[in-house]
Amino acid sequence: MTESSVLSGRAFAKEVRRNIKDEILRVGGRPPGLAVIIVGDDPASSVYVAMKEKACGKVGIESTVVRLKESISQENLLQEIDRLNEDPSVDGILCQLPLPGHISADTVASAILPDKDVDGLHPENVGRLWRGEEGLFPCTPVGIIALMKHSDIAIDGADAVIVGRSNIVGKPLAALLLRENATVCVAHSHTSDLEGLCRKADILIAAVGRPHFIKRGFIKPGATVIDVGISRTEDGLAGDVDFDEVAPICGAITPVPGGVGPLTIAFLLSNTVKAWGTYHTSSTC
Ligand code: NAP
Repeated sequence: MTESSVLSGRAFAKEVRRNIKDEILRVGGRPPGLAVIIVGDDPASSVYVAMKEKACGKVGIESTVVRLKESISQENLLQEIDRLNEDPSVDGILCQLPLPGHISADTVASAILPDKDVDGLHPENVGRLWRGEEGLFPCTPVGIIALMKHSDIAIDGADAVIVGRSNIVGKPLAALLLRENATVCVAHSHTSDLEGLCRKADILIAAVGRPHFIKRGFIKPGATVIDVGISRTEDGLAGDVDFDEVAPICGAITPVPGGVGPLTIAFLLSNTVKAWGTYHTSSTC
């Protein structure tokens, strides 16, 4: 396999961030604002929030981190979201997951104004996504489609299999691939003959969370393989795909790290600028 068949999400994300920075400078005026809510002190969530804050600073997005105690009631968290919904300097709001057990992630997602919902989890944005309308959609799937288009991967007419049906990756990715005219199949833990199904895929996307789960036998020769999984193992970060086994037979593959991971933050910035654009459009009308 040639080196160009390894799809570098890292390099593409850098390009996306550069374009975002240019766009913010070009439009001028009040900079885009992103509010990130973090409840409790989960170490992994703190790392992700710090990465988001840093990425915002580099492109000219004003970020605010709202740190709340693990013991906050759902009602008080919803009041905090209301305050941010009404703040005109805040274009995008996200609540870092996971949330403590006494707080419903669905209720929180529904409380954020759809026009500020940069994670794309509000039911209105989910509906817009499936109806083929404009809206704010989850960052990782949006980034995956953008990377495939940027890499000239043929999506129209392709047979695509997604392994994993989460609300944040598998389901929105299915909707986005349908929009691009792929024939989409979403597999999960109850799928019979998963290996045989995956072997029919021109585009195979793994979002399972089990290190090196996808082996050589799952791959149609020449297929595009997108590895969303990130698991911490004794040997460092591992994807869902056994890269060493799969890379020699597939047509294109994303590595872990440096594949899908960097796209998620880049497209969070992109969603924030999109939400900011809504403000600019409405304020000039
Ligand atoms: P998730 O909520 O963790 O769910 C995992 C999915 O995998 C479920 O739909 C589950 O099926 C399915 N699954 C589990 N075992 C399976 C098996 N043996 N055969 C077939 N399907 C199986 O999913 P997620 O939140 O999308 O996360 C998946 C992975 O992606 C994780 O490693 C996560 O860290 C990573 N991730 C990475 C990024 C990024 O930026 N790179 C972003 C988001 C997530 P059931 O529904 O039947 O249980």
